[in-house]
Amino acid sequence: MIVVKNLHKHFGGFHAVDGASLTIEKGTITGLIGPNGAGKTTLFNVIAGLLPPTSGRVTMEGRDITGLPPHELFHRGLLRTFQIAHEFASMSCRENLMMVPPRQSGETLWNTWFGRRRIADEERALRAKADEVLEFLTIEHLADQRAGQISGGQKKLLELGRTMMVDARIVFLDEVGAGVNRTLLNTIGEAILRLNAERDYTFVVIEHDMDFIGRICGPVICMAEGHVLAEGTLDEIRANEDVIEAYLGT
Ligand code: ADP
Repeated sequence: MIVVKNLHKHFGGFHAVDGASLTIEKGTITGLIGPNGAGKTTLFNVIAGLLPPTSGRVTMEGRDITGLPPHELFHRGLLRTFQIAHEFASMSCRENLMMVPPRQSGETLWNTWFGRRRIADEERALRAKADEVLEFLTIEHLADQRAGQISGGQKKLLELGRTMMVDARIVFLDEVGAGVNRTLLNTIGEAILRLNAERDYTFVVIEHDMDFIGRICGPVICMAEGHVLAEGTLDEIRANEDVIEAYLGT
């Protein structure tokens, strides 16, 4: 689904991503692991259009998407989750979901033709969808709570929920488990597995928790010093001497 070829991202003289090449197969939940500073987040940001690459290529289903801006990638179903922005913290969880723009363009013109009734219908549909998403994620009781007041783990679920307001095809998740308690981490894991099985979402997940990776991920990619050190199942990765030296042994 995604092919990254010889990608470089330099900050001045520093090579954060330094010749990374990898393939993400459609329908997988791929784990991206590696020591801090390995370039994982920078790689995500380049793929998701937030940073221009210094060189290299990214394709999605054979089409060149290198350097496309986030909104164009969004229309193709490529999403990267983000922390709930400061300005949305005072809005309810339901409203946060309803803020996600529709993926297909043209809706706005439609609205101006059909006027307020149509908009009201759409708002009702959007609200129903948001409630469905909250229920799917088992946080329906938080619908009217302000997003700034829920726990860190619940925020992660809400971030995942935002990708469900549109029919995403591939979602990049950065450290879903950071600061999240076990129970919520399990809920997040279940939601990812269900979205993958029932809605054909492909996932790429940066995470340090190896139990979590083992539970939800098929392929695992280990990065170090800006490039891919090893790819395989978690067991293969764990047995890889380069990985042990660069990451797991430390
Ligand atoms: P990881 O996600 O694997 O921990 P990052 O991609 O966050 O790694 O960072 C890789 C390296 O690039 C780090 O050493 C980091 O300090 C550096 N880096 C990341 N973003 C910038 C930036 N905007 N300017 C300068 N250096 C950066």
